[in-house]
Amino acid sequence: LYDRDGWIWQDGEWREWREAKVHLFTHTLHYGMGCFEGVRAYAGATGTHLFRVAEHTRRLAESAHALDVPLPFNEAEIITAQRECLRKNGLSNAYLKPTVFLGAEGLGLRAQGLTTHVMVAAWDLGPYISPQAATHGLRALTSSWARHHVNISLCRAKTSGHYVNSMLALNTAVKAGFDETIMLDPEGYVAEASAANVFLLRDGVLHTPEVTSCLQGITRDSVIQLAQQVLGIEVRERRITRDELYTADEAFLTGTAAEILPLRELDGRRIGVRAGAPPASEPISHDSVTGRLQRLYRQAVWGELEDFRHWLSPA
Ligand code: PMP
Repeated sequence: LYDRDGWIWQDGEWREWREAKVHLFTHTLHYGMGCFEGVRAYAGATGTHLFRVAEHTRRLAESAHALDVPLPFNEAEIITAQRECLRKNGLSNAYLKPTVFLGAEGLGLRAQGLTTHVMVAAWDLGPYISPQAATHGLRALTSSWARHHVNISLCRAKTSGHYVNSMLALNTAVKAGFDETIMLDPEGYVAEASAANVFLLRDGVLHTPEVTSCLQGITRDSVIQLAQQVLGIEVRERRITRDELYTADEAFLTGTAAEILPLRELDGRRIGVRAGAPPASEPISHDSVTGRLQRLYRQAVWGELEDFRHWLSPA
């Protein structure tokens, strides 16, 4: 990532990508007290659009507020920075990472007078997810690492430090030969994947964990609205156990970068066999709810669904 052309917005100014550096005593580097967003822009039929940028920017502002980190820019200014970041870098299909971090004015937990910095970087996401993952699904391992608890951290905030826990879980699963991990909350109920929310389908109803230990995903919300309003499918937010995933008819993960990815297998159990899921070597069925939601979501992000155009903002 060091050596590339481009511009990064930092604290109201443009910095060349190669020159965009921070001091080694940057507070967030030492203690993880920061927050960020992952936002997508898509080149749709009517030009380049940011997808649900207002909701992402609101979550960023709320993350900072929950951390008690004063934000020197308002949401409108951070949205403008994201739009300009696309234009200045000549990007259309892109991933944006607005990030809030504390400066190097002091070290230690009691440091006072730390400056809050805000940056927005954008780049072409490229083939982030293998096409095979979207069609054939992922093999996941339930993690031995528990996800955060509401009394241990701020589960609603997309806090930089949270991702230590995500990476411990993901790295263990990847080292053991799996694609992804499913994390349980401290009481043993399904929370989420390393950086995506989880859904299951059973007898025509979608179920997803309530927002306690999992992030309040914006793709999760988009999928709930599309399922209810377009497909007429009921969605229940509740506590879910891991064996409910084993025995689900379908299961999938949702996230801004991942979009919608089928979960093919958990802990060696093929998901959906009873419901007629094809063998692991074959793609998921076109008529499955997962497949239908994948197509609807793609239509929504490309601006092809009239009723969901309000999710898009011109770049
Ligand atoms: N959970 C975690 C831990 C995440 O990092 C993400 C990605 N932001 C998600 C869920 C999905 O959230 P969203 O749909 O807003 O990208």
